[in-house]
Amino acid sequence: MSFIPYGRQDIDEKDIEAVTNVLKSDYLTCGPTVNDFEMEFANYVGCKHAVSFSNATAALHVAVKALITTIDESKRKKKVITTPITFAASANCVLYNDLEVEFVDIDPDTYLMDLDLLEKRLEADPEGYQGVIPVDFAGLPIDIERLKSIADKYSLWIIEDACHAPGGGIETSKGYEKCGASNYADMTIFSFHPVKHLACGEGGMICTNNPDLDKGARLYRSHGIVKSDGAGKPLWFQEMKDLGFNYRMPDINAALGRTQLKKLDNSVKRRNEISKVYENFCEAKGIKYQANPKKALNAHHLFVIEVEKRDELFTFLREKQIGTQIHYVPVYLHPYYQELGFKKGDCPHAERYFERCISIPMYPTLKDEEVEKVKSAIGEFLG
Ligand SMILES: *Cc1c(COP(=O)(O)O)cnc(C)c1O
Repeated sequence: MSFIPYGRQDIDEKDIEAVTNVLKSDYLTCGPTVNDFEMEFANYVGCKHAVSFSNATAALHVAVKALITTIDESKRKKKVITTPITFAASANCVLYNDLEVEFVDIDPDTYLMDLDLLEKRLEADPEGYQGVIPVDFAGLPIDIERLKSIADKYSLWIIEDACHAPGGGIETSKGYEKCGASNYADMTIFSFHPVKHLACGEGGMICTNNPDLDKGARLYRSHGIVKSDGAGKPLWFQEMKDLGFNYRMPDINAALGRTQLKKLDNSVKRRNEISKVYENFCEAKGIKYQANPKKALNAHHLFVIEVEKRDELFTFLREKQIGTQIHYVPVYLHPYYQELGFKKGDCPHAERYFERCISIPMYPTLKDEEVEKVKSAIGEFLG
């Protein structure tokens, strides 16, 4: 058997044909395929507006920017909270917008932001915060209904970073909702980097039900320029309203997004089959893995286990042609964040998790015999 990576994209002939069709068409960017992808994605998750981006980092940058501009300048609070166990972009987007970021520690079982600790932080400075960016880590959706009730109490906006969780969802008092439905979050963010569920090469999406935020997202995505809507203004008309960016997704990428989206449900199903096998194995061996609250459907971008001799296991599996990865170094332990004044010890649960965590292979085309190979190699290591 050849090398088994920790994750990989699934590109088939239909994906290739869709991209080829765009290459032969009139529009490589700003064309109809982008609009089709946005509409199909919005339909899939169940939200009103989906706005595509060149990547999820750009989408996060613009999401924060669009939300800030809805708040009266004199009333804007300086601080935004996120979780330390995420990719750096979930926190960087706060800094891009000249706000301050803080980290609330994770729950040691779900690895998601601990909402009890979030409440304590807010109680200590009820007037200090503007928003919160929870992350559906590894594909497990945050308890968005509870988070919304906390956020409302302190007038916070919510940007749900669901980069790991397309196809995931959660039971709420109003019924089951898919990640991205955005009935509780103001905006939900997705990534289409090949290591995530949908591979567009690069790509991202903002989902929202708020027409003003949809408008803001589109404005900042494209230079802050608005064009003629045909009503009263000449057809060539365009004017720059604010300082924006060029964060658009090309039609080439959107074509991939459309064909990839058709496979998403099957992909999440297969990921959950694999995780069931891993979970049974972990139960038998007494290995700790991500807890899964009953009301959530985990989209399983990752499968993370915790072991004592993590670095040794990493090397051992590498020698057996099995790829693993560490998700993540707590964001505030990166040198850049240390220079901002964050300290080791700030989030003890995240730091303990980080010493022990390892992501084992998880992707829809992973075969049963490969899953067995991963299990027996880990079993051999643990003795
Ligand atoms: C991948 C990822 C991002 C950034 O996505 P890009 O599309 O690569 O910019 C942001 N947040 C999380 C949680 C991610 O996993």
